[in-house]
Amino acid sequence: MNKQDKILIIGAGLCGSLLALRLAQRGYKIELYESRPDLRKVDISAGRSINLALSDRGLKALRLCGMEKKAKEISIPMYGRFMHDKEGNTFESNYSGREGEYINSISRGDLNAILLDEAEKHENVNIHFNSSCENVDIENTIAHFKDYKSKRKFFVKADVIFGADGAGSALRKSYISERKFLFSYSQNYLNHGYKELEIPADNSGNHQISKSHLHIWPRGDFMLIALPNLDGSFTVTLFLSYNEGEYNFENLTTTEKINEFFEKEFPDALALIPNIKKEFSQNPTGALGTVKCSPWSYLNKTLLIGDAAHAIVPFYGQGMNASFEDVFVFDEILNQELSDWKSVFKAYEKARKKDTDAIADLAIDNFYEMRDHVANPLFKEKRKIEMDLEKTFPNQYFSKYSLVTFNENIVYNEAMKRGRAQDKALLNLIVDDEVHTHLNMTKEELRSILDKVIHETDKILQEDKIAG
Ligand code: FAD
Repeated sequence: MNKQDKILIIGAGLCGSLLALRLAQRGYKIELYESRPDLRKVDISAGRSINLALSDRGLKALRLCGMEKKAKEISIPMYGRFMHDKEGNTFESNYSGREGEYINSISRGDLNAILLDEAEKHENVNIHFNSSCENVDIENTIAHFKDYKSKRKFFVKADVIFGADGAGSALRKSYISERKFLFSYSQNYLNHGYKELEIPADNSGNHQISKSHLHIWPRGDFMLIALPNLDGSFTVTLFLSYNEGEYNFENLTTTEKINEFFEKEFPDALALIPNIKKEFSQNPTGALGTVKCSPWSYLNKTLLIGDAAHAIVPFYGQGMNASFEDVFVFDEILNQELSDWKSVFKAYEKARKKDTDAIADLAIDNFYEMRDHVANPLFKEKRKIEMDLEKTFPNQYFSKYSLVTFNENIVYNEAMKRGRAQDKALLNLIVDDEVHTHLNMTKEELRSILDKVIHETDKILQEDKIAG
């Protein structure tokens, strides 16, 4: 490993631009290639997730690169979920009982832009737009590109190649097509896709619904969510089956049917989306899938990182956060001063793989929780107890959501194991009538619940350990 090594990163999205920045800060020379035009100059319709929930793991990686403050300046804090039922009744549920724990709504384009700006400040970073990687000769570390504008084909030879080119990674496809090693790969799609719509700002440029919350319209088989933007608008996302149920993306083809669906299921939201007809027909329907693969690297030559290595469904709001955390973990491995890239890549995957597998599984869990359970009385009872416990015992109790979202020092795999056991313990205690709650619980009453939850959780974790 040598600071003179020519490092090529494919993909200048969220992960690629942060990785380029961090490696440049460490003194490496970076060539960053991106298939799309420069999003700071051309208005690229995002096509997918215009805004995202940024939380502690992502912020930790941004802090490492000196970017946390800048990212927070363009974020809107969201303190909890704001649920809407069909009758227009609403209720709020905080993300945490602790003070100062919230997630942040941020524009994908704006975040990407500040990362590109910062990376570009380094003389060690060259960014090339409109350059789409077609395939990678992994043996000889040569990436083949096509320039979108001129249609010219060209290649770049590097010492090391990183694939930060997202869920459809060209590097990952080359691992499969080149057949140089045993590469395990799975891709699982949900039967649900997503479509983005917009609640515009009111006439004064203000948000029409609370901007301090992530809004959810849970309806069992499908749901609508909305995250606030700085300009007073909300980006609304409909998650719906492609072809199952009374209403689905395949049969919502006429204005009458789209209106009927929204009037029946989301009347309060419909009233706030004036351009539903145009947006529903013109905005693309995106697929939702999980990619798992291994190994991520080939010898001392190439490495997959971010969504290219582990794309997940968006229901925990963790895909970007996990991809940023990849950069943090990779940086920790570099601190170990191992002798070559091969050792670095191996150590990185060993440290990281079980955690990205865990967040992939947690994200699927949350798909069901958000569309089905959040409005369920048992779930609401559990959340109330958890909020009380977090508020009263801020250093002793962390819900699964808090472990994943606000506890950047606990790895995803630990958060999953402890969080799942804790959920099971608490739900069992409620169902078995072992815990009794009322509006104003005393500290002693809550202490007794905490003791029971900890005891039951440890028992479940122990049983799981024995079961292997
Ligand atoms: P990408 O963001 O996909 O970036 C890849 C980059 O590589 C892009 O710029 C692309 O143009 C470029 N590229 C692709 N192919 C090539 C090629 N062949 N050659 C050159 N360049 C190429 N995550 C969260 O943390 N919070 C959320 O709230 C959240 N919400 C989401 C909502 C939706 C609907 C979706 C779909 C995802 C959401 N995510 C969220 C996940 C998040 O978008 C991804 O995890 C994140 O974008 C991954 O970053 P990345 O840089 O690895 O990949």
